[in-house]
Amino acid sequence: MKIKRGDLVQVMVGDDAGGAPRKVLQILDDGRKVLVEGVNRAYKHVKRNHPRSPQGGRLSREMPVDISNVLFYCTACNRGVRVGYQYTADGSKFRICKKCTRVIGLVSPANPRRATPGAS
Ligand SMILES: [Zn+2]
Repeated sequence: MKIKRGDLVQVMVGDDAGGAPRKVLQILDDGRKVLVEGVNRAYKHVKRNHPRSPQGGRLSREMPVDISNVLFYCTACNRGVRVGYQYTADGSKFRICKKCTRVIGLVSPANPRRATPGAS
């Protein structure tokens, strides 16, 4: 899964399309949907005295967005980008920005089976 909780993403559909980067709050549905901070808010009418909302009334909360509608936000490119994977010679796996090839973060540590033969 290329998007992780806590990542900054750009939402490509709806009112927020192409807007400011926003934080992924949660990955849902086995990675098919994401909850993005402040995006796709819907009003939910909640009865007073509901245990989780003592004040009741209209509450706004985020609804899941399909993962295909968000792009990882690269701070070097200043835009939503596609994310790729790259293996280093020792077999470490990294996420990278496909546009500027900046390394976003380590996905999995050195793995001899992924290592480039001959490099050590
Ligand atoms: Zn980039």
